[in-house]
Amino acid sequence: MGKMIDLTGCKFGRWTVKEFDTKRSNKESPNKSHTLYWICECECGNISSVLGTGLKSGHSQSCGCLQRESIRWFIDRKDLTGQQFGKLTVLNFAYVKGRQKYWNCICECGNQKVVKGSSLTTGETVSCGCKNSENRKEVYKKMEPYLYDGTNIALISSKKIRSNNTSGVRGVSFDNTNKKWIAAIRLRGKTYSKAYKNFDDAVKCRQEMEELLFEPVIAEFNESRMSKEPI
Ligand SMILES: [Zn+2]
Ligand SMILES: [Zn+2]
Repeated sequence: MGKMIDLTGCKFGRWTVKEFDTKRSNKESPNKSHTLYWICECECGNISSVLGTGLKSGHSQSCGCLQRESIRWFIDRKDLTGQQFGKLTVLNFAYVKGRQKYWNCICECGNQKVVKGSSLTTGETVSCGCKNSENRKEVYKKMEPYLYDGTNIALISSKKIRSNNTSGVRGVSFDNTNKKWIAAIRLRGKTYSKAYKNFDDAVKCRQEMEELLFEPVIAEFNESRMSKEPI
């Protein structure tokens, strides 16, 4: 094995190295560390073969669960507790259904109602039902046709690349100072970004962020447009 350092038992982020991956590693040139793979177990239970250099550089820290959690955390920061929407005041968080958050609300009339978070922030739901007929039409009239939950749907559904983009991939740019690829996404006035050494990883991260952040909002928007007619 030449100068190979045995990583068995070592921990790298959420990974614990189980054993050397003899099948995948290139034994012909054992001194080239970039050809050495290790069977690792993630804290979440996933097992995968990981490149040794990726482990040592800190580039690979989990099976992907770490990144998914941090994106979810970003989504979950929106706490509506105590906020008022029309006649409704949010008491507390109720539950998650699909990718939507629902909130326990109390109406001025005293009725309690569980309401979808996006329905509150768009102004779609402004009461337990007692004030519905007067207000909904008005709110929709004022709403910009493509503005939804503080998000411009036309912008986030677009696959167009901005003229100042240097990577050829939407939301991925090169940070010259740190010599890293930045995957970034902006939603509801907040920017979530992550730096990567590897371009492909940044692209993958951006795609995952789009899936987790944009798709539910777009789906919600389409749903709300459909239910808009029969008011
Ligand atoms: Zn994991
Ligand atoms: Zn009411």
